[in-house]
Amino acid sequence: MNLTDAAVVVTGGGSGMGAATAKGLAARGARVAVLDLDGDAASRTAKEINGLGLAVDVSDDASVQQAFEALVQNLGIPRVVVSCAGIAPASRVVGREGPHPLDLFQRVINVNLVGTFNVLRVAATQMTALEPVSESGQRGVIINTASVAAFEGQIGQAAYASSKGGVVALTLPAARELARFGIRVMTIAPGLIGTPMLLNMPDDVQASLATQVPFPQRFGAPEEFTDLVLHIVDNEMLNGDVIRLDGAIRLAPK
Ligand code: NAP
Repeated sequence: MNLTDAAVVVTGGGSGMGAATAKGLAARGARVAVLDLDGDAASRTAKEINGLGLAVDVSDDASVQQAFEALVQNLGIPRVVVSCAGIAPASRVVGREGPHPLDLFQRVINVNLVGTFNVLRVAATQMTALEPVSESGQRGVIINTASVAAFEGQIGQAAYASSKGGVVALTLPAARELARFGIRVMTIAPGLIGTPMLLNMPDDVQASLATQVPFPQRFGAPEEFTDLVLHIVDNEMLNGDVIRLDGAIRLAPK
């Protein structure tokens, strides 16, 4: 897809894979809206790429509606939407202090799953008004971020794995429904990627995690996620599916 002057949106764009993706899309000529809970972080990324930074809570109906109104006014209706916003707090089902806090489980589902769906539904509604840009009638593409934890959740990841499993399950029905508008829906399931989410862990934990990746035996770079996003944007046969980006890792129970 030709991204020159196209409006695009990246959630979680203040950090990690979202920030790298915002920069990668801008390098292709897109006009990028960077959305993040941390409005300052969103603005920092946006400033580097002459984009639009907005503070948004993806789990909140009004917050996402307002952000999309603002970005459509400033940049136009987005052709590409990449959802990277997410949180990954760990907690056991049966912990030392008692059962998994229910409000923590609900918060993780709310941000990672409800937030992804919230962005998808608002973005898709707007995209239906776009003119098709390919002979097949493609209007746009929505790319979600799950995790390999959707398939091999570790001990302590009951909430996180459930939320990402929901994102995986959302992909096909959304793609099927939006097909008549020429809107594709894809999901990337990363393994271990070197972002603040991982790099804030102690060095010995990081070293032990990296050795679990068969090849290449290291963390993925956020830019390798960006490369896959750009390939999905360009390849319109990719639709309704989940791609693992993981160096063949299959997470152990802990
Ligand atoms: P990151 O650097 O922590 O970036 C995530 C961003 O999302 C942060 O800027 C965060 O803001 C923002 N965010 C959190 N809650 C939000 C909300 N309610 N509304 C809007 N923005 C919100 O993490 P990352 O590693 O790039 O993660 C990107 C995505 O990849 C996440 O969905 C994550 O679950 C997934 N993932 C990561 C890995 C990995 O190894 N890094 C592996 C598999 C999947 P705050 O900093 O203010 O919270």
